[in-house]
Amino acid sequence: MILLDGRIASAAVKATIQEQTALLVKNGKRRPHLAAILVGHNGASETYVASKVKNCEEVGFLSTLIRFENDIAEKTLLEKIEELNNDALIDGILVQLPLPKHIREAKVIETISPAKDVDGFHPINAGKLVQGLPSFIPATPYGIMLMLEHYNIYTKGKHAVVIGRSNIVGRPMSILLSSNLPYGNCTVTLCHSHTPNLAEICRQADIIVAALGRPGFVKADMVKPEAVVIDVGITRVDDPTAKKGFRIKGDVAFDEVASIASAITPVPGGVGLMTIAGLLKNTMQAYISSKW
Ligand code: NAD
Repeated sequence: MILLDGRIASAAVKATIQEQTALLVKNGKRRPHLAAILVGHNGASETYVASKVKNCEEVGFLSTLIRFENDIAEKTLLEKIEELNNDALIDGILVQLPLPKHIREAKVIETISPAKDVDGFHPINAGKLVQGLPSFIPATPYGIMLMLEHYNIYTKGKHAVVIGRSNIVGRPMSILLSSNLPYGNCTVTLCHSHTPNLAEICRQADIIVAALGRPGFVKADMVKPEAVVIDVGITRVDDPTAKKGFRIKGDVAFDEVASIASAITPVPGGVGLMTIAGLLKNTMQAYISSKW
């Protein structure tokens, strides 16, 4: 069994980006710059944004963290995004989700310039992805593709089952895996909460991507021996014995599935780290495409 180690695969991606950035600086160019907006004080969101900022620093990017309180007016948030859209020295903009209920998430996403949409959530980028045109790919599915590439996981003609159809993970993942790409050339079944016979479908999969947010959902009896299993799930599960009072759990029952899979990602230490790698690649791409 191969452990698809996000620390190793993401370090390789980051090393390349770091070298590219160092070369830019050596040639007198400015550094790529990511602006991250965080609304409120959600614990998980705080952790994700802090990690994104830290990773930007590690590869030599500039980063700006803009914080707003939970009760910020939608209009103020949209104005800030417009300001960043018009700032020639900002390459990428991300707004950490979820947002408070009074703010329309779709409106916020649509306000980000597609050219700076390094999360790849804007409908224009989503549409381009569907048509196989160059676009910003949502960071998590992008990171998974980078993981498959790093470990040279053969996908041509394989049957991939994706569990979850969200716009940020499951749906773009299903599109990438069904494209005519070196590491995404599968027949794909996209499953969701209304899929009957889910376990039966999973047992037919050569590759499973679990992105549903139900800790330990994928059990060994749902997995074909020698399948490749990618666990996207991140759920905080209460655990009074843990230092922080919770543990991070994936959507796969790791120990039992690892005993029959040919390759599997751990949680933590798997897809989460690759998501950051995907975001950094998108930010570098935005920089390269900018006129400045
Ligand atoms: P979501 O809640 O938007 O979507 C979940 C999807 O799972 C839905 O399409 C739903 O139909 C499906 N689903 C729910 N219960 C199901 C069931 N019992 N059987 C089959 N399908 C079911 O979630 P999301 O934003 O796509 O995130 C999914 C998980 O991935 C969460 O745990 C989230 O925290 C995690 N996540 C991780 C990363 C990362 O970097 N590793 C990034 C994004 C999301």
